[in-house]
Amino acid sequence: MSAGTRVLVLNAGSSSVKYQLIDMLDGSRPAAGLAERIGEPDGRLVHTPDGKERRERRQVFPDHAAALRAVAEELDADGLGLDSPELVAVGHRVVHGGRRFTEPTLITDEVLAEVRRLVPLAPLHNPANISGIEVARGLRPDLPQVAVFDTAFHATVPEYAARYAIDRAVADEHLVRRYGFHGTSHRYVSQATARLLGRDPAELNVIVLHLGNGASASAVAGGVCVETSMGLTPLEGLVMGTRSGDIDAGVVFHLHRVGGLTVDEIDALLNRRSGLLGLCGDNDMREVLRRSQEGDAAAALAFDAYVHRLRKYLGAYCAVLGRVDAVVFTAGVGENAAPVREAACTGLDALGIAVDPELNAVRSGEPRIISAAHSRVAVAVVPTDEELEIAQQAFTLVQTAVR
Ligand code: AMP
Repeated sequence: MSAGTRVLVLNAGSSSVKYQLIDMLDGSRPAAGLAERIGEPDGRLVHTPDGKERRERRQVFPDHAAALRAVAEELDADGLGLDSPELVAVGHRVVHGGRRFTEPTLITDEVLAEVRRLVPLAPLHNPANISGIEVARGLRPDLPQVAVFDTAFHATVPEYAARYAIDRAVADEHLVRRYGFHGTSHRYVSQATARLLGRDPAELNVIVLHLGNGASASAVAGGVCVETSMGLTPLEGLVMGTRSGDIDAGVVFHLHRVGGLTVDEIDALLNRRSGLLGLCGDNDMREVLRRSQEGDAAAALAFDAYVHRLRKYLGAYCAVLGRVDAVVFTAGVGENAAPVREAACTGLDALGIAVDPELNAVRSGEPRIISAAHSRVAVAVVPTDEELEIAQQAFTLVQTAVR
């Protein structure tokens, strides 16, 4: 058995590859980086080795394979290459695991074929994830590669919540159901919240609000996810940076029949030109806040719509869980935007939720409690760490597999 303790985490997106090398012995990160603008004329790789100066290289990456080879070279230059004996696994973020993959999974040819079969469910994401896996396997065929699925944590959502109320045969034929996304983050944050509160996750009911560029909520009962806001695709649920979230499906027919838009145009509208961006022209919450503080009406409306949807989900998930012990905010907006947290929780004393304005205003990268002393429900801010969660799951799987 290898004595190594390091895992390389790869998150291959549609035009970028994020990576972190994590040492599971002490949680240190010997290197991290980002290769971006893959397939475009102005590719760039920023590599940050721990304790050394960050290096930037500008290079055209025709595809993911070229970008990953460049990443491997940068790691090599610091003696951290894929052939280093400390490396025990590569952990891959894979967006869609369908109904089959509910656990971290050692990648074999058969697993890869199944992930490929799921491409129609995640046409932008799974192909990039697959190329990340293929290249990493090619570079180091003997190294265990582990897929950690974004959908996996939501596999426990009960059937009555996961099914859309449509014809069952049609739904089953086309794999139409609610899968949920951001699962790695929801899992990590719900468990980190239990640690923060000094409680056993098995006895804690938590509402996790993952508010990044994409945004989703989940209800976690005793460590088990029972409801989440994203569905067949990451379009359902909360108002997001560029996505509409919940919408009457009739809007799609109307835009097609009356508006004359094609299906692809409607897809682009709802996924890329809606949400905060659609309402006010900015998808970055920092800009929305700045503009609305200056009295910009469109930005104020976008903020109000964002918060209103969030509060609807908060209320709904209180009902789903029955008893709520903690509400936790995470990701770019959740971790940094105190006005969003405040507005989301204002006037919810009847639900036992009250935020302390001073604690809420503190800026910090640490997990922290922001609820008022009299709040029955703990309100917390817990930075997400999907890379660490992927590394941990991959490491545990490799350890048990060789035992
Ligand atoms: P993520 O997808 O988790 O990286 O979150 C990215 C989003 O977080 C950005 O698009 C911003 O809207 C938001 N964000 C980051 N920093 C701040 C901040 N200081 N205040 C408000 N929003 C922020």
